[in-house]
Amino acid sequence: MKRIQEHIQDVEARIDAACQRSGRRREDVHVIAVTKYVSLERAREAFQGGLRHLGENRWQDAKNKWVAMNGGEEAAEDKPVWHFIGSLQSNKAKDVIGKFTYIHSLDRLSLAEAIHKSASALQVEVPCFIQVNVSGEASKQGIQPQELLPFLDSLRAFPSIKPIGLMTMAPYEAEPEETRPVFRALRELLGEAQKKSSFGHELIHLSMGMSNDFEVAIEEGATWVRLGTILVGKEEE
Ligand SMILES: *Cc1c(COP(=O)(O)O)cnc(C)c1O
Repeated sequence: MKRIQEHIQDVEARIDAACQRSGRRREDVHVIAVTKYVSLERAREAFQGGLRHLGENRWQDAKNKWVAMNGGEEAAEDKPVWHFIGSLQSNKAKDVIGKFTYIHSLDRLSLAEAIHKSASALQVEVPCFIQVNVSGEASKQGIQPQELLPFLDSLRAFPSIKPIGLMTMAPYEAEPEETRPVFRALRELLGEAQKKSSFGHELIHLSMGMSNDFEVAIEEGATWVRLGTILVGKEEE
């Protein structure tokens, strides 16, 4: 694997260029370094290299990294901020709430209930992205776009949950440009929810774009991109 700083510089240049092409401000695009393919050592390097937001998609794989990096006595600003980006079983919510600040995969009320239960016990509020299956692929998680408004209404029953935006995964395309309709549809759905949902003014984020398609996602309005392979690399088994 290349040194982390080389990855960061390459990715930064590409994010800048995508912002310029689309007339967006660089500071409106946040980066999550997805560390699920790498060791604790590499995850530490990423954090020390300036990547403050780390993402993982399974608690089992994240646990040793979280404990090593966040379990100590350092001040909060010396620790990574964690994002849970993978599908979450309701019975695992208690493992991650209080450790992962953001949940990107809220896609059903039973999970909302489990998150709320753990969060209220800890007296924390959990900023969540609602995962939407825009592409309609059977293999993808997420609610259907037309379910979004009623789903948001139902979240009022779980006051520890703070919906802050939408998340989606585009299908892998050899030609990234082909993902554009998926990202555009998520942006339009956010616009509709901003107008029609009682959470409207709090829904400001779009979590979309991965290694293969983040530039298109930024052009379509991503405020959080989730980058694994291209940013921290991937260690072979
Ligand atoms: C693994 C993963 C990523 C990062 O994947 P790369 O293609 O390596 O950038 C982003 N989002 C989710 C939900 C993931 O599971």
